Amino acid sequence: MKLKLSNLLKLSFLFLFLSSFSLSSCSNKEKELNTFLNKIEVKYENIAVDLGDAYWNFYSAEAEADLETPKDEFYNLLINDSLNTFIETWYPKRTEIKDTILKRRIEMWHNVLLSAKVEYDAEIMNLRSELEGKFEVTDEEDTSNYDLEGNILKLIELRNKKAVELGFDNYVHLTFETNGLGYEWFLNFIDEMDNSTLEAYKSLVDETKADQKIDQLGQRNVYQILGQFHQNNNPTDLNIEDNIDLVKTSLSNIGINYDNIPAKLVEQELPPGIGGQGLMINIPNDFRAVMTLGMDISVWMHEMGHGLHGLFNSINTPILEGYEWVPGNANPSFAEGMAETMAWMTRNTEWQKKYTNLSEEEIIKRKETVKKYAPAFIRFHLFNFLKETELYLHPEKSFEEIQKELSKKYLLIETEEIRTQDLNNMVYVVYPLYLQNYLLADVVACQVHVKLEEEFGTNYAFNIDVGNYLTKHLYSGGEYFNWNDRLINGTGKPLDIKAYLDFYQIK
Ligand SMILES: [Zn+2]
Repeated sequence: MKLKLSNLLKLSFLFLFLSSFSLSSCSNKEKELNTFLNKIEVKYENIAVDLGDAYWNFYSAEAEADLETPKDEFYNLLINDSLNTFIETWYPKRTEIKDTILKRRIEMWHNVLLSAKVEYDAEIMNLRSELEGKFEVTDEEDTSNYDLEGNILKLIELRNKKAVELGFDNYVHLTFETNGLGYEWFLNFIDEMDNSTLEAYKSLVDETKADQKIDQLGQRNVYQILGQFHQNNNPTDLNIEDNIDLVKTSLSNIGINYDNIPAKLVEQELPPGIGGQGLMINIPNDFRAVMTLGMDISVWMHEMGHGLHGLFNSINTPILEGYEWVPGNANPSFAEGMAETMAWMTRNTEWQKKYTNLSEEEIIKRKETVKKYAPAFIRFHLFNFLKETELYLHPEKSFEEIQKELSKKYLLIETEEIRTQDLNNMVYVVYPLYLQNYLLADVVACQVHVKLEEEFGTNYAFNIDVGNYLTKHLYSGGEYFNWNDRLINGTGKPLDIKAYLDFYQIK
């Protein structure tokens, strides 16, 4: 056990310490379970590393990507009868297990095996692999005759069908069971975000209509409103040109030496819809990220944030390290939150004073604009992830119909001319029902930054103890704690939506 724990965690450390003693009094059956899982997890990790390496080749085009071999190996491991029997036997009586790490491993395996029954189902895996091949950036095959959209819809239908076979209403319910959020929680989250931002967003709409002298809000107006948020949120006019130099400098400012961590960041064209792709190939020993051309510093810092989260993980039990290759193994909203926490460094006033040519007055003015337009950013996120969710929940509706309905409901578009997007996006194939994590990530990053300021003062982006703080309180435990407990460990409270809305001054 290599968990590095903070003061906040001392109590649970004591508990773990005691429980490891009580292992001797554990039943032989628990020991047998432990030995069995140790063996399986070594295999699991080896395959995860091979698959990570293959995906690295897929995205970076450094070598030919063999995704098939590790996927087949995963398939064989995850349908293994003894593994499934062990977990099915122990999961219902997991509260009897005294070793809290072993108990958590059982819970994690339960999620992993349930997700794998969908994502590693032979038919689903084959179709998914076929589709992935179409997104690979190569100069070989012409895929113009391939029915990409039809096949993505087919994939969605198959995931739903499999989820129903497993006793769920549909794939959305299954996913929110295994991703740690919970479907009911998710519905409440949507309602709260919707209700809290509606009035403020309506004011933006009215203001835009008055400015533009129009009677009805159109799609183009919404993009103008959103543009105000994004243009002012990310830093501009940087005085360090090379992004990698700025990443290294920003890490060094919080006490992390980039040259001492096994991380590699490169630039390379990526499939459409993907700005950056960070891969924890071997946790905690090998992180690589590829950014598509022309991405700004906040994307580089986001991917670096994924790297820090994995590289400072010291749980040292493969299933709790949180490999992303089987949905349900890593909590994706927390992982994206850790990535966004680094992106938020570039939104910090002191950071911008140092690394941009903007005056303090300009920085403050930009921040005011961000706050004003934040309701649009939040509502666009709701629109953006619900358009995928609805595809699973309402297979009778077309993607176009769904987008038009949601455009009216969340973006308050009043005209009938709404240009919709097609399904040609790799995210729907490889990371199903993932997009809500980016809104949650903004909430998490906000909460962590508020805490960092409380703890280290306004100059926290230049405090060399911050890296250690993040490691101890947020990175080290891997998937041992659930995501909300990790937030409590890191910030002293569970996910705080009210504080998030206050931050943007949304009333
Ligand atoms: Zn990310």
